[in-house]
Amino acid sequence: MLNASQLIKSNPTADRYNANMTLGPEPRQFRKSLLAWFDENARDLPWRRTTDPYAIWVSEIMLQQTRVAAVIEHYHRFMERFPTLTALAASEEDAVLACWSGLGYYRRARMLHKAAKLAAAEMEGKLPDSSVALRKLPGIGEYTSAAIASIGFGEAIACVDGNVERVVMRLHGWSEVDELAIRGPRASAARIRDAALTLLDPLRPGDFNQGMMELGATICLPRNPLCLQCPVQHLCLTRGEHAIAERTRMRSRKAAYAFVRREPKAKPRVRSLRALAEEAEILLEQRPAGASLMPGMWELPEIDPETNEQETRLMDVRHSITVTNYYVTIYGFETEREGSLPSGAGARRWVKVRELHELPLTGLARKVLKRLKALPGYTGAGPVILVKHQL
Ligand code: SF4
Repeated sequence: MLNASQLIKSNPTADRYNANMTLGPEPRQFRKSLLAWFDENARDLPWRRTTDPYAIWVSEIMLQQTRVAAVIEHYHRFMERFPTLTALAASEEDAVLACWSGLGYYRRARMLHKAAKLAAAEMEGKLPDSSVALRKLPGIGEYTSAAIASIGFGEAIACVDGNVERVVMRLHGWSEVDELAIRGPRASAARIRDAALTLLDPLRPGDFNQGMMELGATICLPRNPLCLQCPVQHLCLTRGEHAIAERTRMRSRKAAYAFVRREPKAKPRVRSLRALAEEAEILLEQRPAGASLMPGMWELPEIDPETNEQETRLMDVRHSITVTNYYVTIYGFETEREGSLPSGAGARRWVKVRELHELPLTGLARKVLKRLKALPGYTGAGPVILVKHQL
């Protein structure tokens, strides 16, 4: 079997393809155009108003696999709750996961917490100031270390995420499809990294990297790049639609959960309707510690999606996790029917509404409870069906 370089040598398509590989934008012109555009057009994002490496780290971890719009609110909440690395290190993991709830990919939060503990114990509570040293911390890989080191410490290192990869390939006229088919992922990644480093502005590496990411996120879009608005169009070898790799096909799955709520046993002495509503309790179940997805997180009890037609259907919701679209139905169970729920894989517990913010809820559970107005902060009693008598 031919290896990648033999294939390139023996393949006429690859010959044509390779003819372009050394061409690319002139670095000085490119930096000037990109930075001038970024200075004028950068979105005002909260983590761009700081050079605190800890804040940049938190934002970069949150932004992995998550859209900017979804991150902003969580970022504010997280930084308010854990304003410094030492505050994060001193917290319980459950509190960190609770604050992360809704962002998904909880392993990121666990790693962030673990790394903060390590830095607090062994690095005097500070993040190391080089990309190489940063990579020794759990959860900090090549991209994140480059982002923190360049933005927070001014290290001249290129950040290459999916957006930047796409921009670099298009600037050089490299086809995403041919890159993978002919060159292979590892060689292709190395070539893109080298090209990004050649373009990098050594005097403003943090702004340059953010400019590249911004260009990929707002102009050089995956399916329809806005070439007419592009600040580096005059230096780009693609300028337009580009052959792109197939998207991962999403799977579909049906799921159903029970919403069971009960009023407090004794009438609590509270001063407002809202406080009264927050004394009610919701039945939740903890995912097993060994679960492959979201271990230890809390959710509504899962039930069979096919056998609950006699229950009150409260809502339907779609929820995506990695490559699966879940079509979820939520059924309301009266408290007296709690015993008819199938036993779950994890422990169940009644949780007061006012304590829900302290618990690491799955993103789906948080979404459902929010839509049912069952999270703290609502004055209503939530869906009506539920409370017949006390357990
Ligand atoms: S000209 Fe078009 S393809 Fe080239 S970098 Fe700009 S947006 Fe992307």
